[in-house]
Amino acid sequence: MTGSDPLLMIPGPTNLPPAVREALGGASFYHRGEHMADLLERCTDGLRRLMGASGDVLILTSSGTGAVEASITSFLCPGDRVLSVEGGKFGERMGEIARTFGAEVTTLPVEPGRAVDPEDLASVLAPANFQAVLCVHNETSTGVTQPIAEVAAAAHDGGALLITDCVSCLGGVPVRADEWELDVIAAGSQKCLMLPPGLAFVGVREEVWGLAETATMPCYYLDLRRAREPLHKGQTPWTPATTLIAALAASLDLIEAEGIDAVIARHRAMAEATRAAMLAAGLRLFAREGCRSDTVTAVHVPEGVDSVELVRLVRERHNVLISGGQGDLKGHIFRIGHMGMVDMAQIERTLQGVADGLANLGHGCDANAMIDAARDAARRVGADGS
Ligand code: PLP
Repeated sequence: MTGSDPLLMIPGPTNLPPAVREALGGASFYHRGEHMADLLERCTDGLRRLMGASGDVLILTSSGTGAVEASITSFLCPGDRVLSVEGGKFGERMGEIARTFGAEVTTLPVEPGRAVDPEDLASVLAPANFQAVLCVHNETSTGVTQPIAEVAAAAHDGGALLITDCVSCLGGVPVRADEWELDVIAAGSQKCLMLPPGLAFVGVREEVWGLAETATMPCYYLDLRRAREPLHKGQTPWTPATTLIAALAASLDLIEAEGIDAVIARHRAMAEATRAAMLAAGLRLFAREGCRSDTVTAVHVPEGVDSVELVRLVRERHNVLISGGQGDLKGHIFRIGHMGMVDMAQIERTLQGVADGLANLGHGCDANAMIDAARDAARRVGADGS
């Protein structure tokens, strides 16, 4: 970032590290040449490590929604019975996509701010014959992380495939696809992977490819079978966003250099710091204890404060971007993204901005106390993030 760039503390797109910017500015290259094949191999290996996956990882040129759509249409048929776990905007979107392509979608509503109870899920799945469960691992609109390992166990006990949206958490929280048997995982470039928008990733467990052979939902550009086919030649079926893939390699190198566990621990520390600061300011966190996201924190605004105004003030007075609420939560909550290349200096600058914005809106709070609480919390979490 240069001194005048806004600091992006929104839940994506995130700030670009210098190595990523440099890679983005490199020479254009042939997408069917050796350089591309090398990059694809490096990137799929790196993404596999990040996903804890031994199966195929497909790199698509699209935003995260493309990966979610591909994950649904490449494995399901029109008329399939699908259970959509919905506790926020992105959960709703998964259900909408499946419905658009002809699935018979049943919603399992989850109170926004809470995690799904895997027993509820199991009890809905048991008597019915669902082909798939759709679940967002990290619901960006509410700052909730779902207990995805338990969700996977319940889905499989109920005989269903699990399709998981990891768009706003891959690279920020543990994702252990093999261990937790996450069948299909969708992710995107502009969140914890510190890239501009434009690439999406789908991890597929080897065991579930059989379903793709009989899937009949219409798809072409985002057909994962077509994406898988030329992988052995180190190619993608269509012309991919080559420079973004070069930048992805740089981003994955940064993650490897820091260490995946250390990156996850840093996200945990930044999240704990943010949460502690909000509580020190007398604010209420939107997500319940036990399911709070380590990549985005959602916070209720104090009585009488409009979060749209708060977001505007923080941007105009501090050049820091935070987000408001979406849908029904507009005006009522604000969200701080702490994903990707995030450190304590950025968190503290954000806290200064929020404290000043709130003070301007009539809710005085002590920025120093917030920062002290943040530092204590980050220190308590320690380097291992435990
Ligand atoms: N899923 C989640 C959890 C998200 O946070 C987002 C974007 O914020 C998306 C899906 C959609 O991704 P995109 O806007 O890249 O299509």
